[in-house]
Amino acid sequence: MKVPKLVKMYCPRCKTHTEHSVTLYKSGKRRTLSEGQRRYDRKNLGYGSKRKPEQKRFAKVTKKQVLMFKCQKCGYTIMKHGIRVKKLELAEVIK
Ligand SMILES: [Zn+2]
Repeated sequence: MKVPKLVKMYCPRCKTHTEHSVTLYKSGKRRTLSEGQRRYDRKNLGYGSKRKPEQKRFAKVTKKQVLMFKCQKCGYTIMKHGIRVKKLELAEVIK
C-alpha cells in the first residue's frame, strides 16, 4: 500500500483542514529495569521452562501498522492504528 507523505486532513486543534505530514510509527526501546520486565526476568530465573510458551510460527502474514499524521501548522499529531498491510510505502506527493 502506498501512502502519500503529505495529506490534507482535519486537525482538531486548528478546527480546519490543514496539511499533515505522514510518518510510520515505530515503538521505542523497551526499558530493562521496568517493573514488568524485572518480574518477567525473576520468573525466568533458575532451571525449568520459560514463563510463557515460545511462539514458533505466526498465524498472521500481515502486521498492524500505525500511521502518524502531524499538522504542519500547529504540530498536533494524530495516530491512526490498526491498518493491516503486508507492505507499507510512503510515496512522494503527486502534484
Ligand atoms: Zn493543526
